[in-house]
Amino acid sequence: MTPPPNSIGSRNVAVIGAGAAGLVAARELRREGHTVTVFERQKQVGGLWVYTPNVEPDSLNINPDRTIVHSSIYQSLRTNLPRECMGYSDFPFVTRPDDESRDPRRYPDHREVMRYLQDFAKEFDINEMIRFETEVLCVEPAAENSREWRVQFRSSNGVSGEDIFDAVVVCNGHFTEPRLAHIPGKQIHSHNYRVPDPFKDQVVIVIGNQSSGSDISRDIATLAKEVHIAAKSDAYEKESSIYSNLHIHPTIDRVYSDGSVVFQDGKVVFADAIVHCTGYKYCFPFLETNGYVTVEDNRVGPLYKHIFPPALAPGLSFIGLPSMALQFFMFEIQSKWVTSVLSGRVKLPSEDNMMEDVIAFYAKLKSLGIPKRFTHFLTDPQWTPMFEKLKPHEAVLISQSEYFNWIAEQCGCSSIEHWREEQYNIAIKKDEDTFRDDWDDDDQLIQEAYRDFAKFKPTKVCCST
Ligand code: FAD
Repeated sequence: MTPPPNSIGSRNVAVIGAGAAGLVAARELRREGHTVTVFERQKQVGGLWVYTPNVEPDSLNINPDRTIVHSSIYQSLRTNLPRECMGYSDFPFVTRPDDESRDPRRYPDHREVMRYLQDFAKEFDINEMIRFETEVLCVEPAAENSREWRVQFRSSNGVSGEDIFDAVVVCNGHFTEPRLAHIPGKQIHSHNYRVPDPFKDQVVIVIGNQSSGSDISRDIATLAKEVHIAAKSDAYEKESSIYSNLHIHPTIDRVYSDGSVVFQDGKVVFADAIVHCTGYKYCFPFLETNGYVTVEDNRVGPLYKHIFPPALAPGLSFIGLPSMALQFFMFEIQSKWVTSVLSGRVKLPSEDNMMEDVIAFYAKLKSLGIPKRFTHFLTDPQWTPMFEKLKPHEAVLISQSEYFNWIAEQCGCSSIEHWREEQYNIAIKKDEDTFRDDWDDDDQLIQEAYRDFAKFKPTKVCCST
């Protein structure tokens, strides 16, 4: 496809990854007139949403030479956000009543998200830009002081090669490399969890009660003798209403080799297995930047607005680093900014000014007591217990809507819609067992969403309820 005639400056751009971030980055880049090559090591689009029953041989992913399984999706997974707010802004994630094989639920299963991403790729002819089964091995400046980038790759048939690009957009995902709590005994990380069967009749400790911890503990409770969640914050005071064998505790104090686990409140449980739902680490094994970009305690930096390393901008950029935020919308708006900066339509500040901004940002996080590992944490601070004590002017730092508004202003695009933001705010507060099927508090927002959707695909959009 040739670039549109009104393009300001067309660049030759590599995108690494064809998950939800890489797909929309590729679309936005081509819309702006850039030439795009997407490298994807899997056989298909979808990234994390490509479910596989296979797990890695090493249940805690400690061996660096292990075979990597990309996905962390478990069989029973349904989205943790309602579908209306989860989709891209101009390609609504609506139900498909014309196709009986599709999941019409408001919080659909993982297959439906995968189908949505496939639909998106088809609609915008993205597959033709993708080199499937091609793993990027190295990304580095093409030469000293060069503004170009060398991308070395190897395809599944063993063919290796390299190409030179004006820019590289990194969209490799960050839910594959586990973060672990260090304790002895029989353990797995949620990355390697698929089904509850191995835990039948066992006493299981689940560490962590964010989305995966909350889901997986309930999944295991269907077959296990007992499940004990070790939770940070005051969440441990709430007990499940449905599963009488599911117990919530404060965090773990000690674990002994006989399997006994002592919680902070002194209670002791003899466990058969421990499941770590402790999150993931950022990892860019292919990136050679001479130390300009590092990962320290899960801070990827220095990065201007979580995207551009000042010394290497705009040639190198990262889409999708902030966690907790509304992911697909964020990928889209970040991509619009990167795209317009690459074409020269939008200017970045000088390297020094970007660096000053980054240093000031880190200093503010420190002064507010926000640990380094939460650098890329963006959400609605009001609804997140960890941050609810922040004053409004402090909360701006980690507010996703402030971030989206700022980017929208930079590149002259629309920011987050009122209904989308409100749906997200309502959804992230929910932690009851039944929140995915039992909701009646945002009908008005659903109607607002569908009024907006009618602008895009009038023939395919239908009522959600
Ligand atoms: P990925 O989907 O991980 O895609 C990265 C791609 O890069 C992959 O296809 C991979 O093969 C490729 N790649 C990596 N390295 C290389 C390389 N060297 N060479 C070539 N290709 C490479 N978000 C929501 O909005 N709603 C939800 O309900 C939700 N549920 C989630 C549940 C779980 C268990 C997890 C872990 C996350 C969930 N998320 C959810 C967040 C989710 O990660 C994002 O929605 C999104 O799918 C991530 O997209 P991505 O493109 O950044 O990464």
